[in-house]
Amino acid sequence: MSKSRFTRRFFATTLAALSLTAFVFAAPPSKPKLVLAIVIDQFRYDYLLRFRADYHFGFARLLERGAVFTDAHYIHAATVTAVGHSTFLSGATPSVSGIIGNEWYDRQSGHAVTSVSDESTKLVGGIAGRTGSSPRRLLVSTVGDELKIQHPDSKVIGISIKDRSAILPAGHMSDGAYWYDNDANAWVTSSYYHDRLPDWAQKLNNEHPFSRYLGAKWLPIDAKNDSAEPFCTMVAGTEVRFCGSLEATPWGNDMIEEFAERALEGEKLGQHTSTDVLAVSFSSNDYVGHALGPDDPAVRDISIRTDRLLGKLFDAVDHFVGSGNTLVVLTADHGVAPVPEVNEARKMPGGRLDGAAISQAISDALVKRFGAGKWLLPSPAPVLYLNLDLIRAGKLDPSEVEQAAAEAALQQPHIVRAYTRHQLLNGAVQNDEISRAVSVGFFGPRSGDVFLLQEPYYLFDASGTSHGTPYDYDNHVPVIFFGPGIKSGHYARRIAVNDIAPTIAAILSVEQPSGSVGRILSEILE
Ligand SMILES: [Zn+2]
Repeated sequence: MSKSRFTRRFFATTLAALSLTAFVFAAPPSKPKLVLAIVIDQFRYDYLLRFRADYHFGFARLLERGAVFTDAHYIHAATVTAVGHSTFLSGATPSVSGIIGNEWYDRQSGHAVTSVSDESTKLVGGIAGRTGSSPRRLLVSTVGDELKIQHPDSKVIGISIKDRSAILPAGHMSDGAYWYDNDANAWVTSSYYHDRLPDWAQKLNNEHPFSRYLGAKWLPIDAKNDSAEPFCTMVAGTEVRFCGSLEATPWGNDMIEEFAERALEGEKLGQHTSTDVLAVSFSSNDYVGHALGPDDPAVRDISIRTDRLLGKLFDAVDHFVGSGNTLVVLTADHGVAPVPEVNEARKMPGGRLDGAAISQAISDALVKRFGAGKWLLPSPAPVLYLNLDLIRAGKLDPSEVEQAAAEAALQQPHIVRAYTRHQLLNGAVQNDEISRAVSVGFFGPRSGDVFLLQEPYYLFDASGTSHGTPYDYDNHVPVIFFGPGIKSGHYARRIAVNDIAPTIAAILSVEQPSGSVGRILSEILE
């Protein structure tokens, strides 16, 4: 083929492709009527693989027909509930969103605050007079906010057992965030949203759903009959482990799903002119996982029950909204570490650290160098807040005190890194992904002064297990999209959970959330 002929043919083909592309863009798929945004609290990516043969309902539907990202990670270091939930529908890192943890030491008030605590609000639906919660500490918009700015008739609802998990994905302009108050055994909201519960929610509270589970036994899902050994029971003081509160059992998730169905019907979700958003976070997986660890049969059991429950929720959504009208997005807010004793038995590294002893050692080192005083403010490891009044009174250089604290921390066994505020602000840190995760997790006005990092598989907890590190077992989670306009398949390219929010914004043709650092996952869009 001569060069010019090749060139002509090349351009002809390219033009044909371009006009095809133009046609595709000219007729985008119709927008979903509902976005069902699901978080499973503490659900590692490998739970999709390990228990795959037992999934036949919700997870199976998503895995077979959805766009499944097999290598999705959080890019911030503090892999905890509030940060995961604030990332989910904002696409922002803590360095911009201001949500740096579940709670932190607030220098203005001189005490700890949570990511959603708000003294100016009252709890609604529970015990009268209690303080409520709100999204005021979230500094950025969510997809729901951007949707409502452009389409005021869109409804955005958030639901979870935990206040932060209901509030943070739903955003500022939400029509209601609802969570479960254990003390009142009731679904509640806050005066930030409403002065009273909507009728549909009050009606459910009046049915006292928790009473169904009093005295119940959590039997293995594959038990042949109810004489099998239960995982735990709702009766304290029996031979069998006491489940504790309802939220630490699969029934907690059942209650969330029931509330979500009532919200679908009560708020007529998916039946408005523009798209609605229902954000649901299933909390019980986290309570069970903390107590028993990822290798316990109860975690497999609650994962299988979650598969069934998601199937039930998807059926309800199809019933209320019509089949094929909902965009489902599913992720988890973090993973979890193995129980150190389980890891030890299989010759893997890890162990438990005494956070109080480490803080004391750092404190002692500071006293020795700078003189008597309470140099550390009350904040649990691995974040240290220095006493700035003491530093000012002694006319000391704060960066010198930070450095001294960091050096003392690094003398402690299994503490491998200590990042100081001044190092982070000046970019003077080791150049790798972990430092980047600490850096994007740092928000100057709220963050502490020194951040400790332990070796992989080491925990600051005395029992059970936890999460919160930048290691893979904590940051590798499922990300699945399913619905109209989504190309199904398994996608192996590494993505960030921050990519979810801009992708939904693109599908809904609304502005990107204000702090988003993600990219649009265009490979899944038809
Ligand atoms: Zn969580």
